[in-house]
Amino acid sequence: MSVSTAPAITLDNHFARHLPEMGVAWQAADVPEAELLVLNEQLAAELGLDSGYLRTPDGAGLLTGNLVPAGATPVAQAYAGHQFGGYSPRLGDGRALLLGEVADSDGGLRDIHLKGSGRTPFARGGDGLAAIGPMLREYIVSEAMHALRIPTTRSLAVVATGRPVQREELLPGALLTRVAASHLRVGTFQYARATGDIELLRQVADYAIDRHYSEAAQAPNRYLALLESVISAQASLVAQWMLVGFVHGVMNTDNMTISGETIDYGPCAFIDAFNPSAVYSSIDTMGRYAYANQPAAAHWNLTRFAEALLPLLDENQDEAVMLAEEAIGTFPSQYSAEWSAGMRIKLGLENDDDDAATLAGKLLTLLEESQVDYTSFLRSLSTAARGNAEPARDFFTDTARFDAWLGEWLALKPSAEAMDRVNPIYIPRNHLVEEALAAAVDGDLEPLGNLLAAVTAPFEEREGFERYAAGAPDDFGSYRTFCGT
Ligand code: AMP
Ligand code: MG
Repeated sequence: MSVSTAPAITLDNHFARHLPEMGVAWQAADVPEAELLVLNEQLAAELGLDSGYLRTPDGAGLLTGNLVPAGATPVAQAYAGHQFGGYSPRLGDGRALLLGEVADSDGGLRDIHLKGSGRTPFARGGDGLAAIGPMLREYIVSEAMHALRIPTTRSLAVVATGRPVQREELLPGALLTRVAASHLRVGTFQYARATGDIELLRQVADYAIDRHYSEAAQAPNRYLALLESVISAQASLVAQWMLVGFVHGVMNTDNMTISGETIDYGPCAFIDAFNPSAVYSSIDTMGRYAYANQPAAAHWNLTRFAEALLPLLDENQDEAVMLAEEAIGTFPSQYSAEWSAGMRIKLGLENDDDDAATLAGKLLTLLEESQVDYTSFLRSLSTAARGNAEPARDFFTDTARFDAWLGEWLALKPSAEAMDRVNPIYIPRNHLVEEALAAAVDGDLEPLGNLLAAVTAPFEEREGFERYAAGAPDDFGSYRTFCGT
């Protein structure tokens, strides 16, 4: 592999420098035949990266870790994690690398990270690689989430590597260049805690405070303030997932960020028909991470975070446990408040959040009973607020109970404009994502481009995009996503 200096770009090695114990300096595998499949020019501009340069062979070298810019020390980060409830003390970046950080426009740091960059010391039995389909999938869904105003890691580029990857069948390989506020996870803290080195745990916590919650540094107990901040960020995040109908699919503690960004788009999917027990991941046989279980799963993960922080919360461990329990105990009410406020806005109302939540609860029961498409229905409801209830009524065969609900809601004078600002018309529907990925793997990038155009402006209804607003075709069947990515 060639290690030389890219002229246009420098990267910080902030994480590598401050927390050397929390990673292993490593190099990306060489990429025999890099082909840029998609580049996020807007994000590049936001990061001060020149898209023209990123499209050159040197640029592809940067995006694949084959050309290490000045100042960078790529590292495979160490972390532990509870996977489906079982603890793994040593996960870490098995096929990923933190290349380094860039300063963003608000002076904060953003991680530039590679996924699919070859085996690392954390790879265990894995090949360290990734296939085109799953990397484009993360690109589409993360950019859609960002456009939906939901905190998320971003996708800068997907580069095909020219190296085949063995899964159930041989697939073309690719690498995702990901951007994040950081890659600190609940699992990062679990790993630091498990070393038994409390000073290391303190350094990780101070690092997290510095990068994400600098106001916590002023608090009388800064580590308790960190815990409280992460609880609030996650309560808000998961409420937003629920409001938009997103199922993450693999909410292991190594896939939960400290920053409050959504991370690791593997077996994720958006619900079509409203169904609280929706599960898409083929390996989630018990439904642990089903749609309606997500708040409880987040609460459980945050409890693991609090446990990892215990030695920092108070010298007296009984006192520490009390502080942790008190903080963790606020999660359900914070989550409910976020969800209720969000639902009130989705229903275009200005009344009390609790009343709106009651009304929303009744509506969701009706949607579930009649298996109504969640996204299409909510978007159609603004037409009802404008005086034409027919599009919304058309979703139901038995309209009597829906009419009763409608009367109650219309009496509150909902604002159609407010609704259209928050209820998306275009989401990355499963059948559309699969269609775009299949075409891309066959070398046709046009469906990918069209889908991205739809989902990156999700609230803005446009002519020619009708099929991106429609629900899944009847023959799409029961959808399964796969973790073996
Ligand atoms: P994920 O399910 O993507 O969050 O990954 C869980 C763990 O498995 C992480 O430690 C990953 O780095 C590792 N992993 C996943 N796929 C591979 C692979 N193909 N090669 C090596 N490690 C992998
Ligand atoms: Mg992960």
